[in-house]
Order: sequence, then C-alpha cells, then structure tokens
Amino acid sequence: MKQIVKTITKKDFSTFVNTLIKDGSYDVVGVQAKGKCYVFDTLSSAEELRLNYDVTILPPKKYFLPQYEMLLKFSLQKPYEAKETITDSPRIIIGVHPYDIIALEQTDRHYFDQQQDNFYKKRRENTLIIGVDIQNVSERSFAASMNTNTTETGFDLLLTDIGTSYAVTIGSEKGEKLLKKYATVKDASSTDLTKIKTARNAVLKKYKQKMKIEKKDWSSLLVANYEHAIWEEHADVCMECSSCTMVCPTCFCYDVKEDVSLNLKQGNRTRTWDGCMLKDFTKVGSGEVFRDEVKERYRHRFFRKGNYLPARYGFIACVGCGRCGSACLPDIADPCNLINELAHFSSENDPGKYFIKEENEVLEKGIIHLPRSATIKNITHFNELDSLFEIELDDKKPLGHKPGQFVEISVFGYGEAPFGISTPPGNTPIFEIMVRQVGNVTKKLCSLQPGDKIGIRGPLGNGFDTKSFEGKTLLFTSGGTGMVPMRSIINHVLNPKERNKFKDIIILYGAKRPKEITFMDDVDRWKKIHDVQCELTVDRCEP
Ligand SMILES: Cc1cc2nc3c(=O)[nH]c(=O)nc-3n(C[C@H](O)[C@H](O)[C@H](O)COP(=O)(O)OP(=O)(O)OC[C@H]3O[C@@H](n4cnc5c(N)ncnc54)[C@H](O)[C@@H]3O)c2cc1C
Ligand code: SF4
Ligand code: SF4
Repeated sequence: MKQIVKTITKKDFSTFVNTLIKDGSYDVVGVQAKGKCYVFDTLSSAEELRLNYDVTILPPKKYFLPQYEMLLKFSLQKPYEAKETITDSPRIIIGVHPYDIIALEQTDRHYFDQQQDNFYKKRRENTLIIGVDIQNVSERSFAASMNTNTTETGFDLLLTDIGTSYAVTIGSEKGEKLLKKYATVKDASSTDLTKIKTARNAVLKKYKQKMKIEKKDWSSLLVANYEHAIWEEHADVCMECSSCTMVCPTCFCYDVKEDVSLNLKQGNRTRTWDGCMLKDFTKVGSGEVFRDEVKERYRHRFFRKGNYLPARYGFIACVGCGRCGSACLPDIADPCNLINELAHFSSENDPGKYFIKEENEVLEKGIIHLPRSATIKNITHFNELDSLFEIELDDKKPLGHKPGQFVEISVFGYGEAPFGISTPPGNTPIFEIMVRQVGNVTKKLCSLQPGDKIGIRGPLGNGFDTKSFEGKTLLFTSGGTGMVPMRSIINHVLNPKERNKFKDIIILYGAKRPKEITFMDDVDRWKKIHDVQCELTVDRCEP
C-alpha cells in the first residue's frame, strides 16, 4: 500500500498507548528501562516507554520464537493421540528499531520457506509492530553500514520523533485501523516530511562503528579467508557461552525435547532456543560432533551470516544491531570488527558475486509440528543394528517426497528423530526407512512391532535436483546409512519411465563390515543390469 504519513503530538501518543492498555484487547509491549539497559516488556502505563533508547538487551524475536514453548501434548495411553498447543493472544509491540524490523523480515523468510511454521506464523499475524526511528545509537551498532538504520517495510506504524510530535508512517491496513480507532492524528505537512528526513540524517552522524567493506563483499571475503589464523586466535579465548547467538535478532535455531509426566500417562514436546556456538548443537546419534573444535563453530557463525544464508536467501543475516559485540566478554563476536579485521588482512581483491536466490516455492502451508499418524506394516532386521521399516500413513495420502528427502519419526515419550526416505517417489502412502539403533528413539523404534503406531512429519529437506542429472552419466557413492537416501534416487533413475533420461550409472557402496552392507536385494538387482556398474567395499573383512 502507498505509505501515508500522519502526525500525533507526544501527549496524544501517550493517551493512545494508555487507551490501548486500558482497552485490554492487546498485550501492549514496549521498550522500558531496566537499570542502565533497555528491554521489551509489557507496559502498564505509557510513562514507562523509552522511545529514545539505543538498543534493547534482547530483540523482540522472543515474542515470536519464545525461549521455551510447548509444541505438542501427547497421550501414552492411546495408540495415537497428539494435539498442538498453540497459545497466543493479540499483541502490540511499541518501539521496535528498523534493524529489528528487518531481522524479523529475515526470520519470516526462513520460517515461511518451504514449510511454514504455524506457531511462528500465528504470532506474526497476531502482532502489530509500531516501530520507531533510531534516535540514539548504541556504542556497538553498525546498522548504518548494513542499511538497516531505516526501513520502508515490515511495520504497521513507524514513529519518527520530529520535536513536539511524532510523524507516524502507516505501513499496513491493520496499523491504519488501529490509529483510526484509538488515536487522534493529523495529516503530515510537507514540513513534517522534511523533518523526518532531517531526523534520520542527523542520526547517521552518531554511528561510531563502521564497516570497511560493503555487505555484498562479505561472502567473498569470508571464503577467501576460510583458513585464516584469525579463527583459531579468537576461538582460543571464546568461552563457548553462545551469548552471541542468543541475543542476535537474526539467529533462529532451536532444539526440541520431550518430557513425560511422572505417571507415564502423557507428555509434552517443547522447543527451546539453541545456538551453533554450543558443542551439542551438531552432536548426532553416533556421538559424533560435526563441529567439534571451537574454531569450527566460531567460523561457522560468521559463514552462516555472511555466506550460507546470503546464498540461500539473498541477504546477509546480520542487521548490525551490535548486541553480540556487547554480550561477548572476550569481545570476539562482533561481525563489524571481524569483517574489518579480515578486510584489513585479506589480499583478495575480487569483490565476488553476491547472488540473490529466487523466492522458494512454499510446499506446504499450516501445521508442521503435529505429526501424521502412521502404522508400521513390516520390519526386516538386516543385522543386530540396522532394520528396514515399511510404514503406511493412516490418512492413506501419498507421502509426496522427492529422492533425498527425509521424514521425522515420532515415538511419543521417547522423542523424534530424522530418517532418510529409502523408497523412490510414488503415488502411495507406503514408504520405507532404515533405522540404525544408536540411542533412545532408534532403540525404542526397533523394539516396536508391525501394527504399532508412530508419528510422521515431512517430507523435509531439499532432496536431489534430478532434472540437473539428465543427459549425464551418474556416479553414486555412499557409505553405511548414507545408502538410505541413495537407494531412493538410484531406484528412481532406474525406473523404466525415467531411465532413458540418464546415461550409464555407477554405484560405489561401502560399509565398515560386510554385514553392514544393507539392501543386498537391491545390490544384486543393480549388478544384473547391463548399463549399471555396482561396486562394494568394506573397511574390515570380519563377518
Ligand atoms: C537428515 C537426516 C537423515 C538421517 N537418516 C537416517 C537414516 O536413514 N537411518 C538412520 O538409522 N539414521 C539416520 N539419521 C540419524 C538418526 O536421525 C539418528 O541416529 C537418531 O536421531 C538418533 O536418535 P536417538 O534418540 O536414537 O539417539 P539419542 O538417544 O539422541 O542418542 C544420542 C547419543 O547418545 C548416545 N546414547 C544414547 N543412549 C545411550 C545409552 N543408553 N548408553 C550410552 N550412550 C547412549 C548415543 O550413542 C548417541 O551418541 C539421519 C539423521 C539426519 C539428520
Ligand atoms: S564468541 Fe563470545 S559470546 Fe559467542 S560463544 Fe564465544 S565467548 Fe560467547
Ligand atoms: S550478528 Fe551481532 S550485530 Fe549482527 S544482527 Fe546478530 S547480534 Fe546484531
């Protein structure tokens, strides 16, 4: 919509806020002082508002992704009973700075990408954002260098202090209706519009932290310096506290866990904030930690912000709020300092390519946390650890997967774990997964019998882009359980309807021990096909 600007006197704005609080239709949240710092908290009066703050300790993401939230309640007494537990009431957040508004827009891209997170979505829909242009700049902020010091989008209303009044830019119909119902405003004059520009320009001079390079160049700078000594030097003093990710408005990772009541009759599935600086973040079932060294985790955090997410979504996942710089005791978390140091050291002159990916198609809307009920139809034990499960969705609708995708399997009371889909795509509610017993969920799963109920979420993940394989000789290499998704794609390309799209097929399949070579029926079949070469190898020749 075309942006309309109104003005409201500061006195009338206080009345507006107090009316909203009194009305009780919304939880009215605003920026308040807490000691020498500022926080977002529920307002009991407009007097508590501090719209000239510099930065809040935590960003407003806590209202959209709470630090702790219950996703599901389930029963352990019935074959299958699970209910989502979305609880949310209408809310207005007053005083959100432009960089935090932009961070929320970035988070939208992630939570609405492919599978929409209905918990997050509901909160976004239920919340009105009344932003405020920055008046005082925090010591560590470099928002001006990130072009996040102002914004034209992402708010319902945006306030700019223009003296005795605020200019109010209307950003949405919801914002317009709110003003109409609760506030006394006037149309902004051309002098008021000039005052907005003057106010914004005046703040630019207050930034002490500045980037030496443009943000489009972060990615190539990071890639050129992947092996730089700086990662190790900084990691040596890192305390692995993950404060940097917790305070960050653009970090959105979480962990999911299951709690069962003492009487073992019901339980909850909850999610809590998690962060890539924590060692357990990449710990997997076999006990392996993918980013075991602090250096790897420390470097990953910057690559995620400056290289991986730009490649996926087209934006740098840092809005320059400076919170991580303030929160980090050894002062090594600030991207402005790190990138400036690298830019200083780097001999790489190539500005690199800053590519913007096209909008992803949203594959599924609505519920994503509630699993679909499914029945185990058959279990084949390959060896003492690995078993093949044939599963049927109880709604009898096809799974609708692509080769390479995975499903999350719920065994209520034990948890949820991801498994590759091992069958090729097809118009059927039946599919197979292979499970290796390593811990709680996998051991329980392998103790179940045909006829038992489990929960399925998915298909998830991107899957293989089989179109890009067309006209080519295909080489598939996989080891151990890596054969699970590989079997899906191999049998897909071997399907007579697909086969002539591809040239020869070579399959290299390895395992630690001969008995860990699974899917022998498939292997025997592949070996008999004249234009398929299938080779097996093992680490040790024990039985
Ligand atoms: C995308 C994706 C696809 C996957 N596909 C497959 C697949 O197709 N097939 C497959 O088998 N796996 C697959 N995995 C791995 C699988 O998801 C994990 O093995 C599973 O999540 C482990 O869950 P768990 O609850 O059984 O283990 P957890 O209980 O979480 O175990 C975690 C750790 O604790 C240790 N542990 C647990 N209990 C004990 C105990 N009593 N004593 C000592 N140590 C213990 C385990 O050894 C492990 O190191 C996939 C993973 C991903 C991310
Ligand atoms: S970089 Fe700083 S804030 Fe982040 S984990 Fe290390 S010590 Fe903690
Ligand atoms: S990385 Fe640091 S400066 Fe950038 S958005 Fe996150 S907390 Fe703010």
